[in-house]
Amino acid sequence: CGIVGYVGTAAGEDAVDVVLDGLSSLEYRGYDSAGLAVPTPSMTVSKAAGELSALEGIVSRRELAGEATGIGHTRWSTHGAPSDANAHPHCDERERVAVVHNGIIENYQRLRDDLVESGVAFRSETDTEVVPHLIGRYLDRGAGPEEAFRLAIDQLEGSYAIAAVFEGSETVYAARRDSPLVVGLGETGTYLASDVPAFVEHTDRVCYLEDGDFARLSADGVVVTDGEGHRVDRPTETIAWDP
Ligand code: GLU
Repeated sequence: CGIVGYVGTAAGEDAVDVVLDGLSSLEYRGYDSAGLAVPTPSMTVSKAAGELSALEGIVSRRELAGEATGIGHTRWSTHGAPSDANAHPHCDERERVAVVHNGIIENYQRLRDDLVESGVAFRSETDTEVVPHLIGRYLDRGAGPEEAFRLAIDQLEGSYAIAAVFEGSETVYAARRDSPLVVGLGETGTYLASDVPAFVEHTDRVCYLEDGDFARLSADGVVVTDGEGHRVDRPTETIAWDP
């Protein structure tokens, strides 16, 4: 339902604060669970069914302050009941990657059967969880994070806006098809969201991703590529917004 991501510079803000604020700005869309992942110094995933306050309670008990990178999600369940385990982010078994997803992966059952066959243990009933396990499979085969992400997305049918972070890395990877994603370009960091209100208090310079786009966000900006890996230019617009 709602996606937020952030990568800040050294002068940037606390990723957990940015992500939680962003998720609360997207609350109007409705949701049944919420979660976030901070990939540095090691992967930390916090998630809970219910209101954002339940997630905030978990996060405040953890030492997450001061990190530059994070992704978060508010879930409107389509596959699997609203529960802590089904809340996003979802990870591969070794927690090298954390993924949030809006939409529906139509071919998830076939992908899941295949992964289970090869010994992968699933922790949720969501369609989404196939994504981190597919990424994990490509990492196991020697792919780097970006290649593993692209190869996994290539397997998906259906609608998705997806964001992923990798342990130890200050980069957010994103991809979309039939579900919106917008990048915000700030002075001290780069934002990702399913909708502008999530970051408009930080920046009004935005860049809308299109179907089939992949994006790599770092503290100083974004690189957008198509399905073949060729760079594409997406115009940066300054939006008029009356919050
Ligand atoms: N299909 C996914 C799920 O049920 C994502 C739902 C959403 O868009 O929030 O977990």
